[in-house]
Amino acid sequence: MNKNKKGTIEVICGPMFSGKTEELIRRLVRGQIAKKNVSIFKNAVDNRYSDEYVVSHNQNKIKCQPIKEAKEIFNFSEEIDIVGIDETQFFDLSIIDVCNKLANDGKRVIVAGLDRDYKSIPFKPMANLLAHAEKITKLSSICIVCGDYAYFSQRLTDDKTQILVGETDEYEARCRKCFKP
Ligand code: ZN
Repeated sequence: MNKNKKGTIEVICGPMFSGKTEELIRRLVRGQIAKKNVSIFKNAVDNRYSDEYVVSHNQNKIKCQPIKEAKEIFNFSEEIDIVGIDETQFFDLSIIDVCNKLANDGKRVIVAGLDRDYKSIPFKPMANLLAHAEKITKLSSICIVCGDYAYFSQRLTDDKTQILVGETDEYEARCRKCFKP
């Protein structure tokens, strides 16, 4: 355990289209400006975008490492000050232990992900990490039906699997009133 640095866990959650990845990148870019060594990890199940780097709007690049299991983060984490994890809901429950170990070792851990699935059932890794976190940010989207703030992800297809990598035509953001489970 690193006694010189104090680690933390931050969670960025919310429904689809609420800007979770954007907020994650924003925090990591600020870390880069502060000369910290930062990296993003994401589950290899999600190959929607480039495997090598995540590029922000102002062309800052952050190294992105696709992994299959949470514990693989330890293979890279020694040199990293700030660990970003995107689409955290895709990992199994071992991610909780991994995040706590990284934070106990003095790292700033920032996890982003969906807090609930399309039936409004909490994703277990996220629900647990929310309980362990020092700082929580819940983002909203805009309800496609009524224009109010939206915290639910409405699935528009009949697919019944919990993990469905989202595209715009398969989901839309809804408020509590307009959400139809
Ligand atoms: Zn609504």
